[in-house]
Amino acid sequence: MNQPQPIPSKRVVVLIIDSLMDEPLRSISDQKKVPALRFLMDNGHYYPKMVSSFPTMSVVIDSTLLTGTYSDKHRIPALVWYDTKEKRFISYGSALKEIMKLGPKQVLTESLFHLNGNHLSPNVKTLHEEINGQTASINTLVYRGNHVQQLNVPTVTSIIGLLEDKAEVNGPSYFSYGLLSRIDPKNKHTHLWDSFGFNDKFATKELNYLISNKLLPSFSIVYYSDNDKEVHKKGVNVTKGIEDTDKQLQEVLNSYPSWEDALKDTVWIVMGDSGQTDVGKNKNKALIDLRKLLKDYAIHKIGKPVQDKDEIVLGLNERMSFIYLLDENISTTDIVEVLRTDERIQNISWKEGEVINVVSTDHNGILSYKPTGGFTDLYGQTWSLKGNVDILDLKINKDKNITYNDFPDGLARLYSSFYSHPGNYLVVNAKPGFEFIGEGSPTHAGGAGHGSLHKQDTYVPMIVAGTDEKPKHERILDMKEWIFRILEQPN
Ligand SMILES: [Zn+2]
Repeated sequence: MNQPQPIPSKRVVVLIIDSLMDEPLRSISDQKKVPALRFLMDNGHYYPKMVSSFPTMSVVIDSTLLTGTYSDKHRIPALVWYDTKEKRFISYGSALKEIMKLGPKQVLTESLFHLNGNHLSPNVKTLHEEINGQTASINTLVYRGNHVQQLNVPTVTSIIGLLEDKAEVNGPSYFSYGLLSRIDPKNKHTHLWDSFGFNDKFATKELNYLISNKLLPSFSIVYYSDNDKEVHKKGVNVTKGIEDTDKQLQEVLNSYPSWEDALKDTVWIVMGDSGQTDVGKNKNKALIDLRKLLKDYAIHKIGKPVQDKDEIVLGLNERMSFIYLLDENISTTDIVEVLRTDERIQNISWKEGEVINVVSTDHNGILSYKPTGGFTDLYGQTWSLKGNVDILDLKINKDKNITYNDFPDGLARLYSSFYSHPGNYLVVNAKPGFEFIGEGSPTHAGGAGHGSLHKQDTYVPMIVAGTDEKPKHERILDMKEWIFRILEQPN
């Protein structure tokens, strides 16, 4: 178990409120409904537009935050993807229907063991691995650290036969993972019927255990997932999820003698991980069924291993999808032309040699680009660009400086997807109002979804209390270096 360590002089706590967005937050923040968030805002800095990674799915974003890299380096491509080398369809668990088709054991094995153990690149280091001192991870799916953690295998789980042989993972010194690992031995919010402990009450109890027992380490990351479900169901303007999460934050702040005491020696970073975009009510219109569009091809059925006759695998991530071409004889151009007939699709991209090609349903021509070249973006990244720059809504001035509009950091984020895993695939993004569906995938007609490159899915707000240090750029990509800088600051 944990060795007693000297109490760190500086601590950082990152609280991620899944699908927290600027507009709904601001719409209630001046009322009495979210006192804890309001307190942190009044005593800190507010960043309304932090840029997330791509695809805008939690596992990819967590990996970016913890490693300071996009998916070309951290190698977690998406929530759902296809491993061409091992010929395996991989899902870390997106919808109950899909989980039942793939089998809960497979999904749990992917998310618990493979995500952190094999998929997350050994060539990058997480904050948990690199911070000199203890760290905590509470209900975050990406958690790789230097400490062997024994998982609880409660009777129920062993009865279903989910985890009969392996019961160890490499995690941080304090490791909470719902039903399977908890810090507070008395934490009761871990029932099967309560999302396996992946709920906000459980997370609060774990964090408060560390605070009350004076165990709060140098770095903690806590995941609040309840708001995401609320937004998916009811759309982006719903604020009930934020109000509920605020109640949890109040409990966290209440575990100090006063709220002001919480800010002494501890930096609080409260933020979203991706935005969401409303999906239309009319199912027939709002949901883009890629199986129908690509009906001339043999599409892999997700409940079965990939068959020789299969020509295409779909890796659906709500408003973004990978389309894998298994058969060398299928022409990319043919697929692009078919997809381009559907105006609900925003853009279609693919890799050709070193170059990324992008076409759109709203603009003519093609944009081809690759890193390093005569154009410089606001993050100091340089690019070679050819063709129609309107496709990614780039504005270029006479000095060849690029600014982004609808697709923040769009060139680097889209590029990262084509180097996140091997294979011959296209990437498609849906326009606001629409979502991709396939076999077993979640659907959010009348609610909201995320996943795409669009700014609505991309921007997240961030509240920072307890430091005046600023990230180099307003991107989740730049947070790791910033957190190190905060920890090194003298008190
Ligand atoms: Zn979500």
